[in-house]
Amino acid sequence: MTGPSTARPPMDPDEEAALLDAIDKWVAGEVTPQVVMEHDHKDVWPEKLVSQMAEMGLFGATIGSEYGGLGLPSSTYAKIVMKVASHWMALTGIFNSHLIMAAAVERFGTEEQKQKWLPKFATGEIRGGLGLTEPNAGTDLQAIRTTARRDGDHYVLNGTKTWITNSINGSCYAVIAKTDPEANPRYKGMSFFLCDKRPDGGEGFTIGKKFDKLGYKAIDSAELVFDDYRVPADQLIGGVEGQGFFQATGGLELGRINVAARGVGIAEGALRLATQYAQERQTMGKPIADHQAIQLKIGEMVTRARAARLLTLDAAAAYDRGERCDMEAGMAKYFASEAGFQNAQEAMRIFGGYSYSKEYEIERFYRDAMLMCIGEGTNEMQRIIISKQWVKRNLA
Ligand SMILES: Cc1cc2nc3c(=O)[nH]c(=O)nc-3n(C[C@H](O)[C@H](O)[C@H](O)COP(=O)(O)OP(=O)(O)OC[C@H]3O[C@@H](n4cnc5c(N)ncnc54)[C@H](O)[C@@H]3O)c2cc1C
Repeated sequence: MTGPSTARPPMDPDEEAALLDAIDKWVAGEVTPQVVMEHDHKDVWPEKLVSQMAEMGLFGATIGSEYGGLGLPSSTYAKIVMKVASHWMALTGIFNSHLIMAAAVERFGTEEQKQKWLPKFATGEIRGGLGLTEPNAGTDLQAIRTTARRDGDHYVLNGTKTWITNSINGSCYAVIAKTDPEANPRYKGMSFFLCDKRPDGGEGFTIGKKFDKLGYKAIDSAELVFDDYRVPADQLIGGVEGQGFFQATGGLELGRINVAARGVGIAEGALRLATQYAQERQTMGKPIADHQAIQLKIGEMVTRARAARLLTLDAAAAYDRGERCDMEAGMAKYFASEAGFQNAQEAMRIFGGYSYSKEYEIERFYRDAMLMCIGEGTNEMQRIIISKQWVKRNLA
């Protein structure tokens, strides 16, 4: 099963430029270093920025206009993510995970589900994310233990999801569970549900341990705990059991393009900070940017950031043409996240001792960067996916 087409026409270049300009202005005015450092250092949810993102329509960025979203193609969306992430990567997680949940409903949901949920997702009235990972199952998604047993017009969920982005400040999640734990192969027994914290009886659905993280601060990561949680049967995405594995992994191409865009943002942001510092800081009577050792670093950083951007836009263009792009999305995710990590590291070296001070922004890029190498399928797995797909496309 490949799922419904992801094809979407490119945006009119003038309209795209105006939209990106508006994002630039918002970032310059609101996502300032002072605001970001304040929230990042104290690990506080950026409520005001979230309201502004809702007003700009970012929670509906990729949701079709017929459901109240902006209907952006993934290539335009990736450019927005790059811009925001080049100042504060964690902020993009607040709408990224939410939009992957929305994409699952838009691509695989019934028409009733789309009509009911997508307009509220688009305005940000209901925000959420994706509940795949469990304490014993990350990469090996088929090893999940959460079960969903049919009981009349409900399913009863039991199990724990972990590391879930937006778990505390969101209210609805696309959660994968086993409707047939004995199925062989295992993926045939997996189904995808929209689980919401209903004011009128989300009993049995609680938020567990909140993680105290190295980076990716201010955005919440915690456990979703289901203990005889009753979810209405009409919240089974697509209305048919056994499709969950394909529905969840079908969203990963878009998820990987989004993570790649965040990697590009980190790579470009670290480069921006390092370029400025290298011209201000003087040693031996001249700016360090004039020393060859620093020039070699900046030369590599610029090239990496540019290559990461091009690979990401290439994958997004394939996605927007409706083509299968697991290899392209995998290459973009792998390369761009490593580019972000390497550029953050090199920028730390350029900042010298001051890189260790929380008065400078570069330490945040360093703390945030590694997550991009892990989330949405680790970079070990990406290389395996790329290799398998490459060989398949080039059979001897
Ligand atoms: C801050 C943060 C936010 C997150 N947000 C979410 C979220 O919103 N929703 C969600 O569902 N999950 C989320 N995750 C979970 C994330 O997707 C997983 O951590 C990731 O998929 C890796 O799974 P794992 O941690 O269980 O590692 P494991 O799967 O245990 O992997 C450990 C190591 O083994 C390697 N490995 C595993 N299997 C293989 C194999 N077959 N071949 C080669 N190497 C292998 C991996 O590459 C890795 O290096 C988040 C994680 C973090 C840290």
